Amino acid sequence: MGNDKLSVGILGATGMVGQEFISRLAAHPWFDVSWLGASERSSGKTFQEAVSWRLPQPRPNFVGEIRVNECKPSGAPQIVFSGLDSSVAGEIEADFAKAGHIVISNARNFRMENDVPLLVPEINPEHLNLIPLQKQNRNWPGYIVTNPNCSTIVLTMAIAPLCQFGLKAVNVTTLQAVSGAGYPGVSSYDIVGNVIPYIAGEEEKMEIETKKILGEMSGGSLHEHEVEVSAHTTRVGVLNGHTEMVSISLKEKPTFSEVINAFRDFKGRPQTDNLPTAPASAVEYAIESNRPQPNLDVNRGDGMTVTVGRLRKCPVLGYKFVVLGHNTVRGAAGAAILNAELMKVDGLLE
Ligand code: NAP
Repeated sequence: MGNDKLSVGILGATGMVGQEFISRLAAHPWFDVSWLGASERSSGKTFQEAVSWRLPQPRPNFVGEIRVNECKPSGAPQIVFSGLDSSVAGEIEADFAKAGHIVISNARNFRMENDVPLLVPEINPEHLNLIPLQKQNRNWPGYIVTNPNCSTIVLTMAIAPLCQFGLKAVNVTTLQAVSGAGYPGVSSYDIVGNVIPYIAGEEEKMEIETKKILGEMSGGSLHEHEVEVSAHTTRVGVLNGHTEMVSISLKEKPTFSEVINAFRDFKGRPQTDNLPTAPASAVEYAIESNRPQPNLDVNRGDGMTVTVGRLRKCPVLGYKFVVLGHNTVRGAAGAAILNAELMKVDGLLE
């Protein structure tokens, strides 16, 4: 199978994000999953022995008999996706990069390093130019590329189209799904019929990652965007899909239809290069006044499209709207796979 495909491994293959990787890579035209890694709890077992499969899609047949390894570079393919818990991702991902591997990571540990791309292919493909700097700074033969936190990527997909109007400030309140906390995650006793108004570290991530993602490369280094972001993050009893209430301040005064057209026209390298898992529309604008909703809209574009709706005037900042995105797809495994596809067409996986 897949003789001319690139062999890839998955670090943290047994987790929620790891399972999403396996499911989404099973029939991928360019990548072939040949190696799985997880903790000592799982290593030595076959994948089917190690894992309770938690996705609605059936577990792909090919993966059941693959034996789970410890997360050590020896024997792993050169390209690895990482869905590791952040308590261990820093050390393990660095060990892989030091051993010459290309690590395409979901974890937060390296996102804000000034020589590590925090990549959203529609928004900042030029940030891949940080890779030579990273290899030189750290003397690593391999390198690490990251994707954003799951709530940050949904926000940035919605505000990147508005940068053309001079983005000054963003106020965002999230309603985040329980799948964002991994499995078993939040206790049912805490979340059913309840709202938890605190997710550790999440507000800080949204406030700082956004400035990096929207930043510009010049003179070989990255300069953060000047936008100020204020975030409130909450966990709600939704299975999949982070909904976010956003108010924005712009330097210019675009009309309603100019803003809606900016959402609808937004596209980038994934769409122009026709990458295998790119959604036809990166952002869709829902015209119904009661959308987007997680139950109805989270799987648009196979989970890779972000849906915006309810654009209206904000008496405080200028405009306000609602945005929804799939947290384990566009916010995790799907984002990393799209990153890898862009890296492949740019010759960075050779
Ligand atoms: P999870 O379900 O708890 O899975 C964690 C994975 O890490 C498992 O495969 C686990 O293996 C492995 N692991 C834990 N300790 C380890 C160790 N000492 N050595 C090697 N492997 C170890 O978590 P998740 O929700 O998939 O999230 C994974 C990562 O993605 C986290 O960094 C998270 O912040 C990030 N992320 C998650 C989402 C989301 O929506 N869920 C979105 C964006 C980013 P065992 O099964 O053997 O314990």
